[in-house]
Amino acid sequence: MIKRKRVLKMLYIVFLITFTVVLSSCSESNTVMTEYKTKKEIKNEKLGQVQSEVEQKNCSLCGDEPVINYPDVYLGNNSIGLINLNSWEVYDLELDIGEEYSEDCTSIQIVNIGNHSTTIQLIKPSAYNMCQINLSNLESARVEDMNKMLCESCIREIVEEADYDLAFIDFTTKELKPIQKNVVGTTISDYYIHLDPIKENGSISAIEILIFYLPKKEKS
Ligand SMILES: [Zn+2]
Repeated sequence: MIKRKRVLKMLYIVFLITFTVVLSSCSESNTVMTEYKTKKEIKNEKLGQVQSEVEQKNCSLCGDEPVINYPDVYLGNNSIGLINLNSWEVYDLELDIGEEYSEDCTSIQIVNIGNHSTTIQLIKPSAYNMCQINLSNLESARVEDMNKMLCESCIREIVEEADYDLAFIDFTTKELKPIQKNVVGTTISDYYIHLDPIKENGSISAIEILIFYLPKKEKS
């Protein structure tokens, strides 16, 4: 009888331990569930923060005097660059190097456009019309910053597309191509852009980008 009682007691303890483990794993997964936000939820949250302080005519993208912090020297330049969507500062990738031959050497630069911005490592071989860009310390576009520079419809358009604080910009047309998590290939102006997201513990921690000057074939 005593033995049976002991066995029952042991079983009870085992049951308690198992139940606690199950409970704790349940509460763990509940925590994960409440903290996890889908891409759509993040976007909706950002769209809820859109409260532009800028009238359309003063918008840095579509207004009468577009693009503050955007020197005239870039306008009409047959190159593309990177623009920080929070500070609206631009960086010319200087890829319009044309047909001129130059000594074969590779330059490596680390660039940050604005405060609290994604780190950009730029690798450019001078003998080719291409470059490699490695993005790390990825930051996202902040609606509170965009509210001060862009009109409401431009912010909404950017929030729909931008997963990070950077976009490619065509200096001639002012077309923007925000960098997106699920886009691995795109074109802007006469350039082809290949994007390769690098994952760490299941989430994207860096992006490797290759840009090639690739003008379209013309009709003969
Ligand atoms: Zn606008």
